[in-house]
Amino acid sequence: MAGKYKVPRGTYDILPSESYKWQFVTNVFKEVAREFNYKEIVTPIFENNELFERSVGEDSDIVEKEMYKFEDKKGRIFALRPEGTAPVVRSFIENGLMLKPNSSKLYYFGPMFRYDRPQKGRYRQFYQYGIENIGSNDPYIDAEVISFAYMFLSKLGLKNFELQINSIGCKNCTQDYDNALKEYFTPYLNDLCSDCRKRLMKNPKRVLDCKVNTCKVNADNAPSMLDYLDENCKTHFNKVQEYLKQINIPFKVNPKIVRGLDYYSQTAFEFIDTNLGAQNTLIGGGRYDGLAEQLGGKNMPGIGFAGGFERLLLSMEEEKLSFGKQQTPKVYLITLGNEAGATGIKLIMELRMNGISTAFDPDKTSMNAQMKTANKTGAEFALILGEDELKKGKIILKNMANGEQKEINITDIINSLKDK
Ligand code: AMP
Repeated sequence: MAGKYKVPRGTYDILPSESYKWQFVTNVFKEVAREFNYKEIVTPIFENNELFERSVGEDSDIVEKEMYKFEDKKGRIFALRPEGTAPVVRSFIENGLMLKPNSSKLYYFGPMFRYDRPQKGRYRQFYQYGIENIGSNDPYIDAEVISFAYMFLSKLGLKNFELQINSIGCKNCTQDYDNALKEYFTPYLNDLCSDCRKRLMKNPKRVLDCKVNTCKVNADNAPSMLDYLDENCKTHFNKVQEYLKQINIPFKVNPKIVRGLDYYSQTAFEFIDTNLGAQNTLIGGGRYDGLAEQLGGKNMPGIGFAGGFERLLLSMEEEKLSFGKQQTPKVYLITLGNEAGATGIKLIMELRMNGISTAFDPDKTSMNAQMKTANKTGAEFALILGEDELKKGKIILKNMANGEQKEINITDIINSLKDK
């Protein structure tokens, strides 16, 4: 039965048969956040366009090609947020969170928007979970942020993933490296895609990250950033690795991880699903020590990560992991006759007030139809209230799994169900 309208391309509905999975992973994420002492922050889904142009970078794919920009009635240019870090750092500065207790370790959830070619694992409206840790440049914090992501994936039961880390250095060391890359790629200029030809001039590291095959092949023997790190960045990167080893988190160093956004410095990392196809990055993150200053705040280091829910669910399905039980009502109430119906609707309120989830369908009147629906809902118990029971002040409690039924006093029903 197709209606007149469809969801916009690259978007989708999360239906009841799926939403419990989202709730499950969100709850596990919140649990890990509690264990790491991170607090939730919620920012608007649209922001000043400039916030993203300044931070993510005007030459990045996101800003150049993928942003949903719009003008409001007063001619201001806004953008639907394509990512969560810049808004969180904006809010951090605006609200002076550096001075407030328990406010520098933050997590968020929410929809992000990027105009890109939709495919499996890539959407125009997608949902991210992420964390930001603002205020410290200690390499222990890098390891802690990485360990949060590791613990989250592990608690979900995922096994087929791999942590890859890199250091992309700081402003100090990047100049020489960029020059080395330009020199290395120049002979291959004609083999690079048109985007990479532009990237080579403005931000050559991003050629390493390109998914186009000819660019990838040519990047194979490119110079490694790790050979260009200054002493400070080298020590930082070594310490991050030491901490990861100390807390038993396996990783691989991959000098090709550069991350697509401009604001990253030093540690960059990705969690890759080793089973998924092209869109196989589950989580991406890194350090962004210059971002706060770039946004007009004090010079303040930070590090975080973001992951997409869609790919996470795909990975979990691939590994046949459990999403917990789909919610079903504890009780389905069956009433026969008008008087029992009237008492029944009062009883429903009481059951629900007492925390007992109860389903009821006023459109079904016969015993048969109501019992069928009770079965379909997956309720644990049926409560049957007919005229006869009503007269005696009783109700029938039927265990749907084994068919056992007994008559109990209506006044005892809450207590006897609470125990079950
Ligand atoms: P990024 O912000 O590009 O570093 O992406 C972080 C994570 O968000 C990725 O590893 C994916 O899991 C997810 N992600 C990014 N873009 C999309 C998209 N268009 N559709 C679905 N998930 C995405």
